[in-house]
Amino acid sequence: MDLYLYNSLTKKKEPFGSAQGRPIKLYTCGPTVYDYAHIGHGRKFLMDDILRRTLEFNGYKVNHVQNVTDVGHLVSDADDGEDKLEKGAKKQGKTVWEVAEYFTKSFYESMDALNFLRPTIICKATDHIKEQIKLIEKLFENGYAYDTEEAVYFNVSKFTDYGKMLGQKISEKRIAVRDEVKTDPNKRNNADFALWFKRVGSFVNHTMHWESPWGDGFPGWHIECSAMSMKYLGEQIDIHTGGEDHLSIHHPNEIAQSEGATGKKPFSKFWIHSAFLTVDGTKMSKSLGNFYTISDIVKRGFDPLALRYLYLGAHYKKPMNFTWQALDGASKGLKRLQQTVYSLQTTARTILSEEKNNKILEFRDKFNQAINDDLNTSKAMAVMFEVLKSNIPSRDKYDLAVSFDEVLGLNLK
Ligand code: AMP
Ligand code: ZN
Repeated sequence: MDLYLYNSLTKKKEPFGSAQGRPIKLYTCGPTVYDYAHIGHGRKFLMDDILRRTLEFNGYKVNHVQNVTDVGHLVSDADDGEDKLEKGAKKQGKTVWEVAEYFTKSFYESMDALNFLRPTIICKATDHIKEQIKLIEKLFENGYAYDTEEAVYFNVSKFTDYGKMLGQKISEKRIAVRDEVKTDPNKRNNADFALWFKRVGSFVNHTMHWESPWGDGFPGWHIECSAMSMKYLGEQIDIHTGGEDHLSIHHPNEIAQSEGATGKKPFSKFWIHSAFLTVDGTKMSKSLGNFYTISDIVKRGFDPLALRYLYLGAHYKKPMNFTWQALDGASKGLKRLQQTVYSLQTTARTILSEEKNNKILEFRDKFNQAINDDLNTSKAMAVMFEVLKSNIPSRDKYDLAVSFDEVLGLNLK
């Protein structure tokens, strides 16, 4: 069965189609490195990992690029408040550069623990200031950008398709502007977003800053993804992913910037978004005391792969609620599965009857169908259990389990 993926742009499950032998261009929005990775991040990056492994399982080579946001992401995605990195630095009593380095390292250690394949290219926003400035210049040239005393903005009213991902008109787009937050009086439309912040006003002491044609300052958050995606993958890519929160601001902005710069060449064919992870039925937040990092999982004696097993139990677009009880169940399930598969490893290979051979082919087909049906991991896991309970020879059960594990990543070998 061909690979089908749900495309947030068309709001349909669509065949992935063929890439005509060339590597797949995959861009996955990465972390903002001002704090530890939490179990919500784990869920989003699990979806990326399953997508990448499924593409490879289908025989594609994948060029996987992921950004690390180390400047410009303000506390609100809609360009309000302090820069998250500056806030993190104050909290930690370190410099922004130290904070970024420390949490980038910590993030990828957490992702390794969850057995996520490392992206082919990991790129930091602060290493690509020149590329971002060039892209903003192009947006000026094409009539999409303007500047005020405070910032350079993208004028969304000039980009007729703005909001197509959400099916919203610009006039309907509600931006989370809180009364107490000061907004630039010269911003032309509520939904216009910053491409470059000038080092003035509340940002006059901003630590990270660079010279630009619009004065000393720093890039807005959204422009880094367009600039780095284009640098490493070209103007048009196959798949772009993010959490469901990116559907309303970050990704419409990325599309506007990228297509505004390239004369409306469709930026990405597929846009894939994963649902959020809640904890004890509510949003994970430090003030509620239900905010867990990946190292909290380890501190409580769990193998991080138990968390992976837990994530796999729900389709990535379905809401998922974390409880310690559910993790405990997943941990037991993982251990049982690993022990069963390990115990089959040393069994001898037998000659297969035609009936058993057909059964094996059927299982392979069933697994492919499940995972190629928009990455249905829970169905794929069910096929794994069906194999282990079946009457095919032990050695063939082992071979199938190990082959399915190329996608599931539960270290069954
Ligand atoms: P951030 O580090 O906040 O920039 O987030 C990195 C990625 O993790 C983004 O794609 C977010 O959508 C995703 N993410 C953040 N919090 C959660 C959560 N609770 N559940 C699922 N994904 C999340
Ligand atoms: Zn992004």
